[in-house]
Amino acid sequence: MKYDVMVVGGSYSGMAAALQLLRARRSVLVIDAGLRRNRFASHSHGFLGQDGISPAEIAQSARQQLEAYPTLTWIEGTAETASGQKDRFVIATHDGARHAGRRVLFAAGVSDTLPAIDGLWERWGVSVFHCPYCHGYELDKGRIGVIAAGPMSLHQAQLIPEWGEVTFFSNSAVALDDTIRGDLAARGVTIEETPIARVDGHADIVLTDGRRLTLAGIFTAPRNAPATPIAESLGCALAETPLGAQIQTDDAKETTIPGAFACGDAARVPHSVSLAVADGAWAGAQLHRSLVWT
Ligand SMILES: Cc1cc2nc3c(=O)[nH]c(=O)nc-3n(C[C@H](O)[C@H](O)[C@H](O)COP(=O)(O)OP(=O)(O)OC[C@H]3O[C@@H](n4cnc5c(N)ncnc54)[C@H](O)[C@@H]3O)c2cc1C
Repeated sequence: MKYDVMVVGGSYSGMAAALQLLRARRSVLVIDAGLRRNRFASHSHGFLGQDGISPAEIAQSARQQLEAYPTLTWIEGTAETASGQKDRFVIATHDGARHAGRRVLFAAGVSDTLPAIDGLWERWGVSVFHCPYCHGYELDKGRIGVIAAGPMSLHQAQLIPEWGEVTFFSNSAVALDDTIRGDLAARGVTIEETPIARVDGHADIVLTDGRRLTLAGIFTAPRNAPATPIAESLGCALAETPLGAQIQTDDAKETTIPGAFACGDAARVPHSVSLAVADGAWAGAQLHRSLVWT
C-alpha cells in the first residue's frame, strides 16, 4: 500500500493536517509516539472552545473524530527513519516495518532543554512554565520568578509583569547593562543576581547564599530543537530562531526536500496549541494541493 501522506506525529498539528486530507478522501498514515509536549501540564489554556481542558482530553477527542474516516491508518509507535523522494518516500518504524507514501509531513514537535538547575525539570508544567499566555492567569497576580536562560529571558522579564510581581534571576546567564536595568526597574521588576542553588517546594527558589524566595510560579525560556532527527535524516534543512532550531519551510510548509512538509512547533514560532492546529490545517491543505497539482 502506498499512502497519499504519511504524518510523523499525531498530536495537535499532525491531526489538524490529517483531518483536512481525510476530508478530501486521501489515504493518510499517522505514526505517533504519544509524547505531546504539554503532557506535563494538567490543564491546557488559551485554545478557543477547549480552555482549561486537559491536554490528553483534547487530543483524545480529536483522535476519535479522525477515526470516523475510513482512509485513516494510525500506528502507535515511533518513526525511526525517512528516506526516498517525492512520490516515493519510505518511513521505517520501531518494529522494523517500512511504509511507503507520496508525501511526508513532519509534525513531531520539539524538545525542551531547561537551564541545569536542581529541581527545575521536576516542576515543568506544574509550577515552572515558558508561556505566560498559557499559565500566567492561574498565578493570580502573585510573586513570579523569571529564571534567565539566554537573550529570550529579557523579553520574558519585560512581558511577565503583566501577570504578577516579577523577580528576575539573572543566574549568570545574561549580561545586565544600565539600559536593561533601567528598563526592568521601570516595569517594577526586581533583579536578583545571586546564583540559584536549587528549586524546591511548590516554586521556591533557594539561592547559593541560603536565602529562599517563595513564589506562585516560575517562567524560563527553554532551548527548543526538533523532538526527533528524522527530518534532518531525510536532508531537510533546519533554521535558527530566537527559541532554538526548527525545520525550515516555505509559506506552503514544504521543507527544503520537495514533497516533505513540516508543521506545528517543529516548524514555526511561537508555540501554542491554537497555533499548532492552525499551522497543521494549513499544511494539510497545502499537502492536498501538492497532490492535486503534482
Ligand atoms: C509544559 C507545557 C505546557 C504547555 N501548555 C500549553 C497551554 O496551556 N496552552 C497552549 O496553547 N500551549 C501549551 N503548550 C504548548 C503546546 O504543548 C505545543 O505548542 C503543542 O503541543 C504543539 O503541538 P504539535 O502537534 O506541534 O507537537 P506536540 O504536541 O509536541 O506533538 C508531537 C507528537 O509527535 C510525536 N513524535 C515525536 N517524535 C516522533 C517519532 N519519531 N515518531 C512518531 N511520533 C513522534 C510525539 O510523541 C507527539 O505525540 C505547553 C507546552 C509545555 C512544554
